[in-house]
Amino acid sequence: MYFNDQTIVFHDGEWKKAKDATTGLYNQTMHYGNGVFEGIRAYKSTVGFNVFKAHEHYERLHRSAQMMHIKLDYSVEELVSITYDLIERNDFADAYIRPLVYLGANMSLQPVDETHLFICAWKWAKYLGDDPIKAKISSYRRIHPASQHVEAKVVGHYTNSILATTEAKRAGFNEAILLDHNGFVSEGSGANIFLEKDGELFTPNRGNILPGITRATVLDLCKELGIRVTEKPITQQQLMEADAAFFAGTAVEIASISQVDDKIFPLAYEDSLAHGLYEMYRQKVLFNDLQNQTII
Ligand code: PMP
Repeated sequence: MYFNDQTIVFHDGEWKKAKDATTGLYNQTMHYGNGVFEGIRAYKSTVGFNVFKAHEHYERLHRSAQMMHIKLDYSVEELVSITYDLIERNDFADAYIRPLVYLGANMSLQPVDETHLFICAWKWAKYLGDDPIKAKISSYRRIHPASQHVEAKVVGHYTNSILATTEAKRAGFNEAILLDHNGFVSEGSGANIFLEKDGELFTPNRGNILPGITRATVLDLCKELGIRVTEKPITQQQLMEADAAFFAGTAVEIASISQVDDKIFPLAYEDSLAHGLYEMYRQKVLFNDLQNQTII
């Protein structure tokens, strides 16, 4: 599903067939989860394709690496350029891109100088599909910010997401919503959350969330559209009393949540702010808004 015999990947400075790319079994990322990664999307546009907010994603990759004491020898510009090349070499336009920085062999609990870069891409539909999502409040709490760098996109953090998603799916839901260590709403397993109440939006403030690039895009869109958004701690009760809610993330894009536990939101997706925002988002992803945008 992720590759076939023809798929090309970037691995440690070389272009290889995915089927020929290999790595050692003693690497620290595999044993201890110490590695950093990104999730990026490219979109087919009338002038080719656009890797949406590629610079922002690679800036976050650099910040994640720095927080985890991981050496990353490629500049943001180099990473962006490799990514455009990757999409072209695979003859893709719409694609999901996965850069991963993983570490060399080391069984000690210290940073390792040897780092590796792997970037691959595959065609991936909207991660949670197009239908409104039934979400379950997870019994697993989001990682405590005093234990881990919550703002870093670290491989090992996703065991928390996997536990939450598995629990939600086994209970018949599509996705989990995790609370933070104080019991406030934090985010989904792989997306930020917004709720709508009386024509305004609310989203958890930074501190206990991964600050999403899609979340930032939604905040910008709201500014453009004159929709009021407040970033603040949100209680579980406030979520339950919302008119509507949605997830925002690169993989899920903007995805309406129809239900949390047994509470069904009163506003249908078509009547909620998420509807118009998603239309705008679909336009926005065709262009980068940085000045040094690379549009092919
Ligand atoms: N929170 C978590 C835990 C995530 O994994 C993601 C996906 N990277 C997000 C939020 C959304 O981030 P972005 O919009 O940058 O994809």
